[in-house]
Formats: sequence, C-alpha cells, structure tokens
Amino acid sequence: MAFFDDQIIERVQQATDIVAVVQDFVQLKRAGRNFKACCPFHKEKTPSFVVSPDRQTYHCFGCSVGGDVVDFLMRIDGLNFVEAIRQLAGQANIELPEATPEQAKGASRREKLFGIYELAQRFFRAHFSDVNSGKQAREYMAGRQFSPEILEEFGVGFAPASKHLLYDGLRKKGISEEDILASGVATRSQYGNIIDQFRGRVMFPISNAQGKIIGFGGRVMNDDLPKYINSPESDVFKKRQELYALHIAKRHIDRDDPYFIIVEGYLDVMRLHAAGIRNAVATLGTALTEDHARLIKRYVKEIVLVFDGDKAGENAALRGLEVFLTEDVSVKVVAMPSGFDPDDFVRDNGGDAFRELIKTSEDIFSFKLKLLMKRHNHREARGLLTITTEMVSMLAMIPNAVLVDRYVKQLSVVLGVDEQSIQLELAKVHDKLSGRFKAQEPEEDAPTTSLIKNPFQAEYAIISLIAEDETLALQAREVLSGSDFLSNEVAEVYDRIQARYGEGRSVSVRVLLHDPRIVADREIGQTLKSYLSSNIYAHLSLAEKSKALAHCIQQLRLKQRQCRADEIRRKIKEAEFQGDHGKVAELVREFQELTRLQHS
Ligand SMILES: [Zn+2]
Repeated sequence: MAFFDDQIIERVQQATDIVAVVQDFVQLKRAGRNFKACCPFHKEKTPSFVVSPDRQTYHCFGCSVGGDVVDFLMRIDGLNFVEAIRQLAGQANIELPEATPEQAKGASRREKLFGIYELAQRFFRAHFSDVNSGKQAREYMAGRQFSPEILEEFGVGFAPASKHLLYDGLRKKGISEEDILASGVATRSQYGNIIDQFRGRVMFPISNAQGKIIGFGGRVMNDDLPKYINSPESDVFKKRQELYALHIAKRHIDRDDPYFIIVEGYLDVMRLHAAGIRNAVATLGTALTEDHARLIKRYVKEIVLVFDGDKAGENAALRGLEVFLTEDVSVKVVAMPSGFDPDDFVRDNGGDAFRELIKTSEDIFSFKLKLLMKRHNHREARGLLTITTEMVSMLAMIPNAVLVDRYVKQLSVVLGVDEQSIQLELAKVHDKLSGRFKAQEPEEDAPTTSLIKNPFQAEYAIISLIAEDETLALQAREVLSGSDFLSNEVAEVYDRIQARYGEGRSVSVRVLLHDPRIVADREIGQTLKSYLSSNIYAHLSLAEKSKALAHCIQQLRLKQRQCRADEIRRKIKEAEFQGDHGKVAELVREFQELTRLQHS
C-alpha cells in the first residue's frame, strides 16, 4: 500500500475529473451543481446516485456507498487501490515512480509479459483468420457450433503446427530470448533448442479481471493427448488466483440477482455466454481456492458451482468450499446430468434448459448433508456421529449467525437430534478455533476489540466535520486527542488530519478519502467514506457545525465512560473471583467516581 506517496496521489487526483470517469460507466444527468444517475451498485428506478464535481465525490443515497474517483473505480471494476491509481495516472499521463528498484523491476517485468501476450494473441488471431492456415481451426470451431461473434469476443485463435514461428516473430520484434521463455509462449526442448509452446492448437487467451491477457490455453482438434495445454505460471499468471472470462462476466452481473456460475472449461464458458448466460466463469484446472473467494467477493456474494454428476465430481465440488463460507460468500451447487458437460448440455438442450437446471441448485449445506446421509447411516450411532461432526465443522465456518441458526434447525429436524446438542457441539468447535486463534495472536481486552470492529458513529461524524474546516479542527484539538477515540483506525485518521493542519497544509475530503489507512480497513473505511461523501453537514452554517461538533465530542466522552464502566465491572468480577478484596474495593471506588461524573 505504501507504493505511492501522498503527493503523487494528490497529483493524480487533481488531474482527474470524477465526472468523466463515472460517465464511462453510467449515464449522468445534470442536477444543479451535481450530476445524477441510477446507481450502478444497486437496482433502482429513480436516480439516487449523485456525483459532485465540486467535491469530486460520489454518493448513493439508496445504498449509501460513496467515496472518490479511486473508490469508484475500485468498486465498479474490482481494482485494488494501487491498480486504480495506476489506471488514473495512465489516463492523465502521469508517470508513477516506483518505490524501490526491486518493485520497478517487478513492474516492468510484468509490463513486458503483458506485451508478449498481446503480440502472441495477435499472432494466434491472425492465423485463425488466415484463409489457409486457420481453415481447419475455423471449421473445427464452427463444427462445434460456435458463431464467429462469440469466437471474436473470446479472442479464439490458432497456433500453427510449425516449430518456432511465434518465437521467431517475437525475436524479430526485439524481444529477448529470456523474456520469451519467461512468458511461457515458447519453451526449451529436451534437445536444447527453443520451440513454441503451442503448436497445431486452437487457442483461448486467458485474461485477468482487468482484461489483460496473462496466458493461454490450447486445445487439440483431434484425439491426441494432452487435449489441453495451458501456459505455465508466470509473474502475472497464477492459476489459483484467476478465473477464465471473469473480465467479461463481471460486466454482466444482474443487479437483481447477482451471482457467478462456475464451470470447468473454456468451451463450457463460451457456450454459456453464447446462450446469453453471461455470468459464467471457469476455474483454470484447480479446485476453488481462498484467492478465488476473495476475488469473487469483489463482485458478488453468491456462486453456483456446476460439477460433473459422478462421485469424483461430487468430491471435487465439495473440496475447498469452506473457504467461501468463511468469506461470507454463499455457495450453491448443482450436478450436471450424467454424461453431460455444460457445453454439450446447452448445445443439445438450449440455454433455457440450463437456466432451469441452475434453478434447481442447492445450497452447499443441504447438499453436503444429503451426500453424507447417502454415505452414512444416520440411524446408527457411528454414522450419526460422522454426519454431525462434518456438518458442525462446516457450520463453524459460517460467520453469519442468522444463517447458522437456520442450519442448526434444519440439521436438528433432518437428523432427529436435539437442537441444543448441536449448538453445544458447535460451541466446542468454536472454542477450539478461537483457542487456536488466540495462541497465534494474543488479543487485547475483549471490549476494546469489539469496539474497534464497530466504531461509534460520533467518531465518524467528528472526522467529517473537521475535514470540512480548519476552525472546527482547532476546536476539536483543544479537547480531543487521537487516544480519546474508541476505534484505533478512526483515531489514526484523526491524528493524521490534525497533523496535516499542524504542518500548515490543507485538508479536503478528496485528500482524506485517499488516506491509505482509510483504505486499509475495508469495513471502517467504507463507513467513513460514506460519511465523508454524503456531505451531511453541507447545509449547516459554521456556527451550527461547531455545535454539532461539540455534541459529537460529548457523545464520545459519554461512550468512553460507558466503556470504562464495562471494563471496571469486568475487572471487579475477576478480582472477586480471585478473592482479591483490596482490589475489589479499589475498583468499586473507581466505578462510583465514574458514575458520579456521568451524572454530573
Ligand atoms: Zn446505490
């Protein structure tokens, strides 16, 4: 995150107009000083998404997302902070310095690889279109009933059978042998000479979420083996972190029903997209991973996993799915009818039949329960134990308490086991898990931790007030320091703003929204950004704002005392438990003092 310093970020911001950037994604209409549109982040009929050119922020009064242009790009395009800054800097022709030579080397290496894949893609596409060279490949794909439009959208190409045509072409363009080998489009053969990696294959470019090509898959057109060859992993291609066609699917998410369908192959994805099922993506020959879960979470909160209807398929489908539950992405699964993959199925039965199939998907919990009940007899003690143990360990992964409760009820009904006993088992697993967590990372006092997770509203309000006006910042500084805040994250932002004013620099919502520390903690960052971009105090006079600030500070003090009181209560209990009467008396005095203050 410490990739760019404040000054660079400010330069990029100053050179960027949020209106122009947002306009690429949504149709804006002028409304007074601002612009309005229907929100791209939630479904709505009347526009509540507002872009302010003065403040260079956006805010949706429907779903209360908001922030500056960098946030907007991060949210709509699934970029991370550094990627968003890079993109804006590129558009504004600002050169970004690299923090260290190491990073510079890494970045330019990545750029080189992207360049090679771009050239290789042009080569494969040219051969696919070539009257003679690409004839067989075109006929093969047409025979599989793929239209020229879908082939073009997915950039399907052809690698001719010659040994080193691509390699020679790249060398002629001045690319070094080392870089070509690093890209994996050519490889050193066992005899020591360099040959193209893909020969005589139909080519499927693999892009990352931003649409940059990062590798290829190549398929034979006969029964030769291996049927598929993929690019080796490189600095820009990690199979466990990428999903095929995500860059296309992410632009077709249905805001009424946002989810991704996950299948296994290039052709499956292309077939589904061709049938208008545009939210399909594929894994690249690996099981689903934690990285996938995080990637997917940027766009949707639900996936439907489609797998082969045999036992191996079932097992593969279940592997690694817990991590999605931990990330709070809900998982549904559906088996293909035996002998079909999505490609054949849709070709034979049409897209609507597949849509119907998707409707029959089951959530992973019910699916796993059924599977276990098929494999173990729940009327026997041993079978029942196996089933409950497995199901409870799955439940323990789900952070959403409401969901867990529902599943516990379901489990209790299906297995004929008392709900409370299931809760008890679940508590045991939770204890074990949290015990492991504590051993790794000693936690501070519990009350503080829970507050850090859920900072107090007044704290946000204080930040948005002092970010508006230096007079207010001075007013706050006289009575409030960072250590008064209950949330460490918000406290840091507070200190940072005060320090900035202290150095005689200006503060603005724009600058603040870029504070890397705000970006660092997602949940807190989002709330704070929502406060800042909503501009809730805009209509107040300075005197009124000053009153509002005083009120917020008072609220914060009150909350502080409450927290302190809770802490003392807890310590009293501890001291009582340990029989330390002196300590108890001391704490009680402190408690009384505190309550006296509170009521004065
Ligand atoms: Zn919205």
